[in-house]
Amino acid sequence: MTTLRSGHIIKLMPVDIETYKTIRDNLIKNNINHYTYKLKSEKTYRVVIRGLHASENIDMIKEELQAKGHAVRQIVNVLHRTTKEKLPLYFVDLEPQANNKDIFSIKYINHVKVTIEAPYKKKEVLQCKRCQRFGHCKNQCFRPFRCVKCGNDHPTSACTKTPESEAVCANCQGKHPASYKGCIKYKQ
Ligand SMILES: [Zn+2]
Ligand SMILES: [Zn+2]
Ligand SMILES: [Zn+2]
Repeated sequence: MTTLRSGHIIKLMPVDIETYKTIRDNLIKNNINHYTYKLKSEKTYRVVIRGLHASENIDMIKEELQAKGHAVRQIVNVLHRTTKEKLPLYFVDLEPQANNKDIFSIKYINHVKVTIEAPYKKKEVLQCKRCQRFGHCKNQCFRPFRCVKCGNDHPTSACTKTPESEAVCANCQGKHPASYKGCIKYKQ
């Protein structure tokens, strides 16, 4: 257990996953403000396949990857951002396994030459859509809601702020929404 700099937040590092789950269940049951991070086992291993034609059958891609020893959770054909046209680009989510990295050595799928790459990592800072703090996402957050528009203790969807009234940042109390990239707290 470590007390963080701010003095009113405590960080717990459980010895194993069972302890982690017990603690998490108790925090939720007792309504204690907290957030956690996703377990490695809950995450998927994502890669990008380039080169496969957009008309390719997703089940076929899946079968071929499974036959090579990869447990596929899902495959998504990427669409062009604006035209929504199908691109020769697929996101593949694999179950976390020791052989995940082997997928990069696959050169052909269904006789089509492909390149398999790690996904482009967003450089953006992760911001929680529930409490507006940084470094975790809303699915893991059990802290009180803070509105992105007015900074008050309600979900953003319940906000009654009018466009005429000024925004208040939940993180720095400045006159901007908490999602503003120019916020001093975001820059920090
Ligand atoms: Zn949060
Ligand atoms: Zn609000
Ligand atoms: Zn701010």
